[in-house]
Amino acid sequence: MQYHLNGYSSGDPNFFQTESQRPEPKELPEEVDVLIIGCGPAGLTLAAQLAQFSEIKTCIIDQKPGPLKIGQADGIACRTMEMFEAFGFSEKVLKESYWVNETTFWKPKIGEPVGITRSSKIRDTEEGLSEYPHVILNQARVHDFYLEMMYNGASQVVPFYEQKLLDLKIDRSKDLPVTVILKSMDTRTPASHKNIRARFVVGCDGARSSVRKSLGRELHGDSANKAWGVMDVLATTNFPDIRLKSVVHSASEGSLLIIPREGGYMTRLYIEMDNLKNNERVSARNLTSDRLIEVANLILTPYKLDVREVAWWSVYEIGQRLCDKFDDLPDESVNNPCIFIAGDACHTHSPKAGLGMNVSMGDTFNLGWKLASVLRGQCSPKLLHTYSVERHDVAKELIDFDRKFADMFSVQPKGKMDPTGSSPEEFKQYFIKKGRFTAGTEVCYNPSIIIGKPIYQKLATGFQIGRRFHSAPVIRLADAKSVELGHVVKADGRWRLFIFSNLSRLSELCEFLISDPSSPLINYTPKGLDIDSSIDVRAVLPIGHRDIDIMDVPSLLRPSKGRYGLTDYEKVFCTNLNAGLDIFDLRSINKIKGCIVIVRPDQHVANILPVEDYGALAKFFEKFMIHQV
Ligand SMILES: Cc1cc2nc3c(=O)[nH]c(=O)nc-3n(C[C@H](O)[C@H](O)[C@H](O)COP(=O)(O)OP(=O)(O)OC[C@H]3O[C@@H](n4cnc5c(N)ncnc54)[C@H](O)[C@@H]3O)c2cc1C
Repeated sequence: MQYHLNGYSSGDPNFFQTESQRPEPKELPEEVDVLIIGCGPAGLTLAAQLAQFSEIKTCIIDQKPGPLKIGQADGIACRTMEMFEAFGFSEKVLKESYWVNETTFWKPKIGEPVGITRSSKIRDTEEGLSEYPHVILNQARVHDFYLEMMYNGASQVVPFYEQKLLDLKIDRSKDLPVTVILKSMDTRTPASHKNIRARFVVGCDGARSSVRKSLGRELHGDSANKAWGVMDVLATTNFPDIRLKSVVHSASEGSLLIIPREGGYMTRLYIEMDNLKNNERVSARNLTSDRLIEVANLILTPYKLDVREVAWWSVYEIGQRLCDKFDDLPDESVNNPCIFIAGDACHTHSPKAGLGMNVSMGDTFNLGWKLASVLRGQCSPKLLHTYSVERHDVAKELIDFDRKFADMFSVQPKGKMDPTGSSPEEFKQYFIKKGRFTAGTEVCYNPSIIIGKPIYQKLATGFQIGRRFHSAPVIRLADAKSVELGHVVKADGRWRLFIFSNLSRLSELCEFLISDPSSPLINYTPKGLDIDSSIDVRAVLPIGHRDIDIMDVPSLLRPSKGRYGLTDYEKVFCTNLNAGLDIFDLRSINKIKGCIVIVRPDQHVANILPVEDYGALAKFFEKFMIHQV
């Protein structure tokens, strides 16, 4: 973490930027750059990202009376933890959360009508997949962390609660093309309506999204006609794996998923309930929490679960549904989009793979930097078309995965009621096979104006073009600190060039970057701002940190910044020479030739280029960035 660049401040370095108390919401604004509908994980991720930019006016509203307190999602995938690191609160989540280290599988006892037995225990996440574990934390706490970031961001965004979106209209001839009509839900005051005009509107308003409906879009898909219950309980039990994530398949009473919760005592249970008739809603069954507890005990027989308190519970029906496009335009030919939808507004599925909150946040992490760079005049608005394309592909994969996952979870073990059904063993194999997908690290964006073709992929096969930048340890040259290279990429809207090279090639490239008229740094850094304000250049040398002096690296990598012209010493890293920690080996980077890895503001690898191909580097940014004069 870097601070004191523009002067010394005492106190908590997280909040130096604003030094203020949590601001109170004022009057609803009449005009904004971005209006976000919905304070769920998707809306809050976007608001937290946009709050980092003082020049962007963001407003977020929700029909609810205040922040979420309990319930809903709780699974946080490894990839989401990497994103939380970019937002600066991964450590808080690590400290508070339950870590999913192992998963256990239980199956019916062979030859007995009732009873279950443990079939296996496996590692939850494959070794080396991420520097972060898969963790469990109440969705409400995730919201809290985002709210804190928003309050403390450069533009101090505070949600307006009890505001319901009624309708929206588009007039593209106007500077602020979208007019949104809101209704106050505050019963203490007379009913009132208010219009807000916005440059962009983002519907993060959940599965029944009004924004989606106003665009004439629908969720397509099917319902599996299966009711499930979910409950957070404080209970005593003789079931031995209550503090491990456990998948339990019984012979004839259904299936159960146990998710241990943060804090050491609470447990979440996902309980398979009844089959529903065609088009029957789960609410028609009048299921109660007592019934959920009863079924959980039947599935766990011969073990007993004695529930002392139900902290939260809900019932739902499984369905996998997807919207065909996530913005307001049919295609790219006419215009650039000004309305977007994200999260559950675009895709809904079963919660058992723990992906709903994760994919929703991934949607708006993808959209946030794009909106910010268009609004800040850095990138062409055509960039905005890539949001729907990239995230629709992810959602489609999610829906296909979830359909199979949910089916395999529910079906009866072979040899019982459904002889064609998958067995607990088959479910376990599928769980292992899809481990990277559920960890969120498989997301891969296809070539586009912001993702290069994999022409030079061979220079670093461990950084796959389109996938997230897979962090690895390095030693920071100036202070000999062992750090994760990926943690350099913060949610600050900047692009990164990671140059893996020996000193002589690195020096030549830096000379080009700092002096050539075609250099992306020269062309896209706004006048008067620090040299790394749009594109942040970092270097990794294939030598030990004691073999070179910081004063020997090119001046671009020791830039003068801020109002005092202080030197930024954190741009250069050396490989960690300890066994098994050399980043060149870990990520299969060609040590002789080196390479440039271009990383997007959302941590995805945009391209890999040879260190000496200056033309290709300039060309890459030309496709979507705007020259700063
Ligand atoms: C009751 C419930 C239980 C869930 N349980 C689980 C679970 O057990 N496990 C799991 O993995 N996932 C669960 N989920 C799913 C998970 O919470 C979602 O995938 C995730 O929250 C999606 O985030 P989102 O931001 O897209 O939408 P949401 O979290 O649904 O947020 C949408 C927000 O928009 C607001 N809104 C809606 N319409 C309007 C309007 N017209 N005007 C203003 N505001 C509006 C809503 O009040 C809400 O705050 C549950 C979801 C719900 C709703």
